[in-house]
Amino acid sequence: METSMVLAELRRRGYRLTPQRALIIEEIFRNVEKHVSLRELHAIINRRLPGVSISTVHQTLKLLEGLGFIKLFELDGKLHIDKPHVHANIVCRDTGEIIDADSDVKAIVESLSERGIHPTNIIVEARCRDRKENPQEQQKT
Ligand SMILES: [Zn+2]
Repeated sequence: METSMVLAELRRRGYRLTPQRALIIEEIFRNVEKHVSLRELHAIINRRLPGVSISTVHQTLKLLEGLGFIKLFELDGKLHIDKPHVHANIVCRDTGEIIDADSDVKAIVESLSERGIHPTNIIVEARCRDRKENPQEQQKT
């Protein structure tokens, strides 16, 4: 979704859009693809506009989630931002990266929906490096 569309929709709904809030919203949509965490987002915003509190960023995220523009999910105790449609988030345990998989989970979502179950978030844990390269890790199990 385009930031300008979201801002227009918020104005239409009567929300007051200060320059600070507009900048926060702009950075949310600029970084949604990367699934940044609340803390990462706060750091990014503070680089452009020092002094914005983390609770202001959090409130803006909650507002956008409530209106269906984004989705928030928790992973390892951190709050991450995401696009609102149902898709799988592939979490790489080697790099910490979160990437989207859309078409791969269509069949799962459809078959669950037939049974009245509607997934809101699908998290797939993955690794990108050969585990044999790290023998210490394997010894733990
Ligand atoms: Zn995602």
